[in-house]
Amino acid sequence: MTYEAERELICRVGRLLYDRGYAAANDGNLSVRLGEDRLLVTPSGVSKGRMTPDMLLVTDLEGRVVEGDRHPSSEVKMHLMVYRRRPDAGAVVHAHPPVSTAFAVCRRGLEVPYVAELAAGLGAVPCTPSFAMLSTDQVPESIAPYLPDHNAVLLANHGALAWGADLWEAFDRLETVEHTAKIVLNAETLGGGVPLTAEEVSRLQGLRGMYSALREKTR
Ligand code: 13P
Ligand code: ZN
Repeated sequence: MTYEAERELICRVGRLLYDRGYAAANDGNLSVRLGEDRLLVTPSGVSKGRMTPDMLLVTDLEGRVVEGDRHPSSEVKMHLMVYRRRPDAGAVVHAHPPVSTAFAVCRRGLEVPYVAELAAGLGAVPCTPSFAMLSTDQVPESIAPYLPDHNAVLLANHGALAWGADLWEAFDRLETVEHTAKIVLNAETLGGGVPLTAEEVSRLQGLRGMYSALREKTR
């Protein structure tokens, strides 16, 4: 079996998605870019908490299977759109975390700068304006406008999507989306949050360089 380490990692992150309640039944899908023209992608219709390495599919950049005997995720076109438009993306994670998906049901992004950590890190998370039919080209088309300037997006009436340089970064971003959605929901339950000012947001964005330098040093 090829790409054993990558297969193990996808299964591990899939279990984490399931264990953290971000995906019920067969919800969600994950992929990792393998070099220039290959992708490792989860099979369709399988619980992401119960995958084994042999279930994963290697595809080309058109989504055609080159290794594996299952059907690749029905949303593989959405993953391919991310890789085409974001050459820096090495992994994509999609799930239906309950609080961020509730925001997506209300067609509300996480764009009001309430939380310092989000302003200094992930940035605003928009929501697509209308429902895109599952598994069709509507899904990749719906996310395309947000790809250049964001690292995560909510899919109207569907779920959440994040990408990153590697699978951990993509997972961390999805987790941050869900965590932020919980905070915003709690703030609204308490009567409404107070957004950061434009100046505070711009100073927080200025810290991004410092944080990535600190991260590099601790590696
Ligand atoms: P797959 O099992 O085909 O990946 O579909 C799960 C999903 O979340 C569809 O949007
Ligand atoms: Zn989905």
